[in-house]
Amino acid sequence: MIVVLKSGTPIDEITRVSEELRETWGVTVEKSVGEHKVVLGLIGDTATLDKMQIQNSSPWIEQVLRVEKPFKRVSREFHHGEASEVVVSTPNGPISFGEHHPIVLTAGPCSVEGEEMIVETAKRVKAAGAHFLRGGAYKPRSSPYAFQGYGESALDLLAAAREATGLGIITELMDAADLPVLARTADIIQIGARNMQNFSLLKKVGAQDKPVLLKRGMSATIDEWLMAAEYLLAAGNPNVILCERGIRTFDAKYARNTLDLSVIPVLRTLTHLPIMIDPSHGTGKSEYVPPMALAAIAAGTDALMIEVHPNPAKALSDGPQSLTPEKFDRLVQEMSVLGKVVGRWSEERTLVASV
Ligand code: PEP
Ligand code: MN
Repeated sequence: MIVVLKSGTPIDEITRVSEELRETWGVTVEKSVGEHKVVLGLIGDTATLDKMQIQNSSPWIEQVLRVEKPFKRVSREFHHGEASEVVVSTPNGPISFGEHHPIVLTAGPCSVEGEEMIVETAKRVKAAGAHFLRGGAYKPRSSPYAFQGYGESALDLLAAAREATGLGIITELMDAADLPVLARTADIIQIGARNMQNFSLLKKVGAQDKPVLLKRGMSATIDEWLMAAEYLLAAGNPNVILCERGIRTFDAKYARNTLDLSVIPVLRTLTHLPIMIDPSHGTGKSEYVPPMALAAIAAGTDALMIEVHPNPAKALSDGPQSLTPEKFDRLVQEMSVLGKVVGRWSEERTLVASV
């Protein structure tokens, strides 16, 4: 349930109403302050709450609404109907993800394969206009015999790439035991598709401060995905970005997954959280990546994640879906044209001095 307060409600009254709600109904009250409104989100057993009694408890209450959805904190209503922004600090300065910000670009290899490789790739994607470097240290591979990532030593190489370029780092956490060491290098912690519903991992990542990129499970419904995000917010971390990376459908003959771009308008109505699209895992083929990246911009994505490898034919993982730095550079130029048309492109990204 949410309680919408009238604009101009005095702070003392907001505090008084919140306390009364807590004491009378035994619920947790979360305040969300928007440009025009203050919303109090009530969490707990709200089934027995009396809407009229709450409405009459203060002349400053504009409306009392039931949130029918199972997710609360991630729901758009809980955030006074507006998009939230996730601000991530990077050595190059803060980068904001959200509906009212320019599109954020993340690029880099599937896996960190060596120092020269990751530092060079970082320089190339930065020069092309990326804000974040992605790269896996711990890799979730279908086969136990496939390359598993270089682990902690790969994190050191990501730190070197960060140092050399100032790019923010996004890297995946698979095991909660690696959280302390991974959080030292990662500016955003990625929870991969296979761990989207690893609830104990979500609780731990939700209880720390680094922003989280939550990928959609390959067979997850939108409600399941949003409930997974709810775990993160419920544990105390509001800085969550949702990443669509393709789902399993009946036809996987030509593309690795079905990239579900319809989530963009759907999520806009359901949640305030920023949206990222990953057309690399979404299609599995490098030649399909540019058209789907452009389509994602047309559909209104807030961010993109694109795999880039200096030599895709030799990549230790996901070579077939990786763009070369040259192709990435060309794609960013195409994206800038469309990005400007939709009013979501900042030229500043390309003005960041290359190193
Ligand atoms: C990745 O980003 O490298 C990855 C493994 O992604 P996903 O979890 O979407 O498969
Ligand atoms: Mn990959």
